[in-house]
Amino acid sequence: MTSKRRTGGKSNKNKSARTNGHALATRPSAPPPTPETHTRFARESEELAERYPEDREQLLMEAADAWSDAGEYDRAVTLYERLLDPAGEGCAEPDLVDAFRIGTLWDAGREEEARAASAAFRRRHPRDAGAWNFVAEAFEERDETTTAAECYTAGVTHALGTGAPVTVDTVEADPHHFDVEMLVIGRHRVRRLLGEPHDDWDDVADALHERRASPLLGRVNTLDEMHDPVRLKRLKEEGSALLEDELRGLLDSLPADDRPTPGRLRSVCVLYWPPEEFAQLLKRWPKSADAYGDDHAGHRRQVERTLRELSDEGAPSLAVGHAALTGLTAYAAGDGGSPDSPATRSAYGAELARRGEAADWPPPRNGPCWCGSERKYKKCCGNPALG
Ligand SMILES: [Zn+2]
Ligand SMILES: [Zn+2]
Repeated sequence: MTSKRRTGGKSNKNKSARTNGHALATRPSAPPPTPETHTRFARESEELAERYPEDREQLLMEAADAWSDAGEYDRAVTLYERLLDPAGEGCAEPDLVDAFRIGTLWDAGREEEARAASAAFRRRHPRDAGAWNFVAEAFEERDETTTAAECYTAGVTHALGTGAPVTVDTVEADPHHFDVEMLVIGRHRVRRLLGEPHDDWDDVADALHERRASPLLGRVNTLDEMHDPVRLKRLKEEGSALLEDELRGLLDSLPADDRPTPGRLRSVCVLYWPPEEFAQLLKRWPKSADAYGDDHAGHRRQVERTLRELSDEGAPSLAVGHAALTGLTAYAAGDGGSPDSPATRSAYGAELARRGEAADWPPPRNGPCWCGSERKYKKCCGNPALG
C-alpha cells in the first residue's frame, strides 16, 4: 500500500487492464510524477504545516503520504508518530492516523512493528470504520485471511456500537455508512474465501451491494458471484487474463446479432451528476433521491466508492461520465426507454463512454479530479480524509 486509500492497494492490480483498447480519456495527460516530485511536495507540505498551524494535521498527513510515494517510508512513519505524540498538539482523527502508520510500517517491511501496532489498535476497540478497513485490508492483502475476517467483524461491531443490530437500515443510518458498508462487504469477501457459511451479516452485505450498485450501473453481478472463492483466487493469480476469459464466455453465449462490441462491454461507466444537474434531476424526478440520496456531496462520494469497489472486484476498465438532464432525456427519447429507469440511465452511461465523453478512472493522483473541481485527484475525491 503506497497510498492512503481506505480501500487498500488491491485495486492497483488492474492498472494495465484498465488502459487497454478503449479510448475513454478526456482529461489532459499530466507528466508522470517522479520520486523527486514527491520529495519536493513532502518538503513543501512540512514547511506549510509550520506556517499554518490550523491546517497542520492535514498538511502533515499529505507530507507523510508523499514521503511514502517517494519510497521514504521511515520518514512517513516519523510524521505519523509526531501527529500521534500525546505531548504534541493533538490530532483530530488519531485512529485513522494510526491506521495509516500501520499501513506504512507494512510497506516499510517493518513487519514485527506492524503486527504489534495492529494488535494494539485492535485492543483499543476504536469506532473509526475507515481505520478498521485499512487495518483489515492489510491482512487480507497478505493472505492472512482469518485475521482479516476478525478485523472486519470487530470493525463492524465497534463502528456501530457493541450490541447494536447489524441491518441494512442501521448501516445506512450511520454517519460513516460508506466505511461501515466497506467493512461488511470486506467481511463477506474473506468469509467466502474461508468457506464460512453465509450468515445474517452476509445477507446485509448482499443487500447493500445490490442497493448501491444498481441505481448507478443497471445490471451488476451479485456479491456472491463476485466473491466466489475460485474466481477470487484466479483473479489474484491471472488478473486481467481471467476477466478477458469471462468476457469471451459471455460474448459466445449471446446470439450473434446481440453481441455488443467488446469495447462497450469491457468498460463500465458510472454516472456522476454535477451539482446543478443533480438539483434539476431531483426537481424533475424527486424519487431519484431514493437511489442517489438528496445530498450532492453524498452522491459524489458514492460515485467514488462505487468505482473503488468495482475496481477491487476486478472490473477491467472503469470510467466516469458527467450526466446531464438534457442528454439523458434525449438519449431516452431515441432509445424508447424511460429516462427514469435504471436500465436507461445505465445505457446512457455506456453511450457517453462510447462517444468518448467519459473520463478514465482513476485519474493520476496528481492529475485533475474526475468530479470537475479543478483540484488534484489526491486532494479531492481521491483523499479519504476528505471523502
Ligand atoms: Zn452473499
Ligand atoms: Zn473530486
